[in-house]
Amino acid sequence: MLKDIIIVGGRVAGLTAGLYAKRGGMDTLLIEKMFSGGQIATTYMVENYPGFDEPIGGPELAMKLEAHARKFGLEILYDEVIELKLDDKIKTVVTTGGEYQAKALILCMGAQPKMLGLEKEELFRGRGVSYCATCDGAFYKEKDVAIVGGGDTAVEDAVFLAQHARKVYLIHRRDALRASKILQNRMFQNPKIEVLWNTVVDEILGEQEVEGLLLRNVKDGTKRDLKVDGLFVAIGIQPNSELIRGKITTNEIGFVIADENMATNIPGVFVAGDLRQKPLWQIITAAADGAVASISAQRYIMEEFA
Ligand code: NAP
Repeated sequence: MLKDIIIVGGRVAGLTAGLYAKRGGMDTLLIEKMFSGGQIATTYMVENYPGFDEPIGGPELAMKLEAHARKFGLEILYDEVIELKLDDKIKTVVTTGGEYQAKALILCMGAQPKMLGLEKEELFRGRGVSYCATCDGAFYKEKDVAIVGGGDTAVEDAVFLAQHARKVYLIHRRDALRASKILQNRMFQNPKIEVLWNTVVDEILGEQEVEGLLLRNVKDGTKRDLKVDGLFVAIGIQPNSELIRGKITTNEIGFVIADENMATNIPGVFVAGDLRQKPLWQIITAAADGAVASISAQRYIMEEFA
């Protein structure tokens, strides 16, 4: 089945690219392996997307984006892409259920939370270790939790967790946060949240589940135990780039390098959203990437397949 454009990933960038492609009259297929929205589907509230002057729930915004794209006729297939064949002019997308071909591809697989790399981190995932405060915060009603990180995610999540938990420790490796000032101010005003500066987690303590953390002060090397029931990790994102490793130019971490048209080093293959190397990974930049990638893909098809 030859499509004009296949979009891999139904997150903000992918849904936006699909909306623009359908409006451009392109025969377009979006393939998503799980659910629409990606990281915003697990975000509690979004309050910096222009036009929404009242905060909107992440899942609600994800549903609106999908509904908006479908309104223009975007076809969405729920299936897992297992291989991308990029060598020929016509690109092939292999899923667990079949093979699909397209004149142009837009890659929007996004990113996922990074792990700390601690010994019991994987073992205790779901048993006290979490990467999604919105998903798991309610399990910690009147309990004590820690969150590691100093960016927007950690600070926003600390405030969210304080709605449920008795006490929230924000553990940050430096003495200054990189989160935006408005989020920082909100956190500093919350009496349930205590920031542990210049501190890292050396070990997760507990036999069957998280019972505490071994902390180390990076300035003076002192160590201490902190009793907590949950550890939330919010130390940034890593790209979902397994499908394209070795096939497309990325940076050393795996974020795809693209020009301002969202074109990768392979003609006919475009990238958009959190998968792309860029200075700001946010909903607004994902949507903008999706729009640019879609228009670039349409121009490419008009020039190369006229
Ligand atoms: P981020 O901005 O990359 O921040 C990661 C934080 O984790 C940094 O403070 C970093 O410390 C710390 N960190 C990294 N590796 C660590 C390690 N191994 N051990 C301990 N600490 C570590 O990540 P993010 O907060 O997830 O945000 C990702 C992107 O999403 C950003 O572009 C952000 O603006 C965006 N975002 C926006 C919003 C919003 O606008 N409301 C909400 C969430 C996310 P250092 O500071 O020392 O490097």
